[in-house]
Amino acid sequence: MATKNNQIAISIPELRSSLHGRVIAPGDVDYDEARTVFYGGFDRHPAVIVNVADTSDIASVIALARETGLELAVRSGGHSNAGHSATDGGIVLDLSDMRDLQIDVEGRTAWVEPGLTAGEYTTAANAHGLATGFGDTGSVGIGGLTLGGGVGYLVRKYGLTIDNMLAADVMTADGELLRVDSESHTDLFWAIRGGGGNFGVVTRFQFRLHEVDNIVGGMLFLPATPDVIASFIAGAESAPEELSTIANIMPAPPMPFLPADYHGKLLIMAMLVYAGDVESGERVIAPFRQLATPIVDMVKPMRYPEIYPPEEGTYHPTAAGRTMFLDKIDHSVAETILEYLPTSTGSMAVAQLRVLGGAMARLPADATAFAHRASRIMVNVAALYERLEEKAIHEAWVEDFAAALQQGDHGAYVNFLSNEGEARVRAAYPDGTWDRLRVIKARYDPNNLFRLNQNIPPMENGKVS
Ligand SMILES: Cc1cc2nc3c(=O)[nH]c(=O)nc-3n(C[C@H](O)[C@H](O)[C@H](O)COP(=O)(O)OP(=O)(O)OC[C@H]3O[C@@H](n4cnc5c(N)ncnc54)[C@H](O)[C@@H]3O)c2cc1C
Repeated sequence: MATKNNQIAISIPELRSSLHGRVIAPGDVDYDEARTVFYGGFDRHPAVIVNVADTSDIASVIALARETGLELAVRSGGHSNAGHSATDGGIVLDLSDMRDLQIDVEGRTAWVEPGLTAGEYTTAANAHGLATGFGDTGSVGIGGLTLGGGVGYLVRKYGLTIDNMLAADVMTADGELLRVDSESHTDLFWAIRGGGGNFGVVTRFQFRLHEVDNIVGGMLFLPATPDVIASFIAGAESAPEELSTIANIMPAPPMPFLPADYHGKLLIMAMLVYAGDVESGERVIAPFRQLATPIVDMVKPMRYPEIYPPEEGTYHPTAAGRTMFLDKIDHSVAETILEYLPTSTGSMAVAQLRVLGGAMARLPADATAFAHRASRIMVNVAALYERLEEKAIHEAWVEDFAAALQQGDHGAYVNFLSNEGEARVRAAYPDGTWDRLRVIKARYDPNNLFRLNQNIPPMENGKVS
């Protein structure tokens, strides 16, 4: 139906009768819940949200976006740091009802639909003593996380999530469903391993599974002094690849298991995962426990999914954040971190340090669209805040903090970018990668239908000039 502006209007009853999935529109009782995404600060009102049930629904929603010209948000777990899983006045294609998981225990592979979360996949695979590495948070969707790269607790042992992606089914802007792998549509297979949602809707992934049953892992709280921070990072860099760590330098939250006199004081909240036998894990983790008297030590042998604690569905923080890579964190860098954190006026401020290397670093930079293989430490600085009108203050603070830490690696991990402008999207992709991605974009999405993302514009004339 055409409106007076010559736009094609959406008919909700028609959509409801033609689709298999759920169609949620303004005024519906579940509309407000359905339009809410993980991060606060994105109060957007889509014209319609379609919780697709199958690939035929996906084709219909893609066609609807093409015909109406309305902005299309594609969403799996809804955790986009940039709010890309919500749109004002556009169409949301929500994949969270597509949750099928088929595990081939013998073959050590799994086919999975993108609506499953990292935690749900990890729990199901662990029933067979197997795992694929995702990120540090169970509620994050495997859809968005995988397409950007996937940096988590198995990164040093088994690489990025994309390094364990064997194939995917991708529906492109013209509604065609393509199987992409190392033999078919190899250009697209390369592009979706780091290029985000720019090239189509992934309807299924195939992942490699590894034997990861029990781990030694959990939270270790240490005093945050320059020496302890620098030694922690040095230890994480020289540890066997079985160990991946995430060190959060932050004021102690008022958690019941933390002594009350620590609340609000800076500490290291470290997450450790040793993916190997328990005895070796205890031996490798022992030096971290000796860096200082631990404030709380919760590291223990556990089943791998226990590393993802239960989360509250009602938690919607508003954050300003900057992601970057550093070459080293020595005493003086640690001092800078400790000087900056207390100057934030946010409700919480954090510097998150992830030592990389290992299996992730063994692939050449051009093996996938994620190219930061040689980067040594990923750092995310963030401030959480409640008053939206203070956004500029917190954005300026993270910007200054990141500038103070900068050591010359100007790359960025696409999945931790927020809305930071074109130059920062470029920072996610070195020149050669960027040009190659633009050519592939021109081939599969020449009209940039999939543009509500860290956007890679199609190369004009489809060629690198
Ligand atoms: C609390 C938290 C912790 C995090 N921890 C980590 C971490 O440890 N490691 C890490 O690597 N990242 C981490 N991230 C970043 C995370 O990988 C990205 O935010 C990711 O985009 C989230 O995926 P999603 O499916 O939940 O998000 P969504 O908002 O649903 O999707 C994000 C974008 O991905 C694209 N997309 C999603 N699904 C599909 C699909 N099926 N087909 C095509 N395009 C799709 C779309 O462009 C969409 O805008 C974290 C984020 C949060 C909020």
